[in-house]
Amino acid sequence: MASNIYDPKNETVPPYTGGGPPPVVITQPTVAYQVPVIVGGQMGPKPAPITCRSCNQQIVTRVELKSSTKTHLFALLLCCVFFPCACLPYCIDSCHNADHYCPNCNAYIGSYTN
Ligand SMILES: [Zn+2]
Repeated sequence: MASNIYDPKNETVPPYTGGGPPPVVITQPTVAYQVPVIVGGQMGPKPAPITCRSCNQQIVTRVELKSSTKTHLFALLLCCVFFPCACLPYCIDSCHNADHYCPNCNAYIGSYTN
């Protein structure tokens, strides 16, 4: 005879521990982020000649454009107003933040934000 009668004793209930797990204290160690910040000043949107203080070379900064919050906001706005223009801010350099790096040693030089 098949015993398919519901037996509450077979139900696995995790034991009630009362206070719950002890609070986990996470100690954040000081993060040693190994990107040498050389100038960290306000830069222009274009590559600029500068003497890298990390490798002491006369270099022209390598610029990496990044979409800023402004870029996304403009895109959203244009999307509402005139949909085909929505991608326009992503094509305009001035709508981007520009991070300057040394092409020689990859040291971070500074950023251009707008
Ligand atoms: Zn360098």
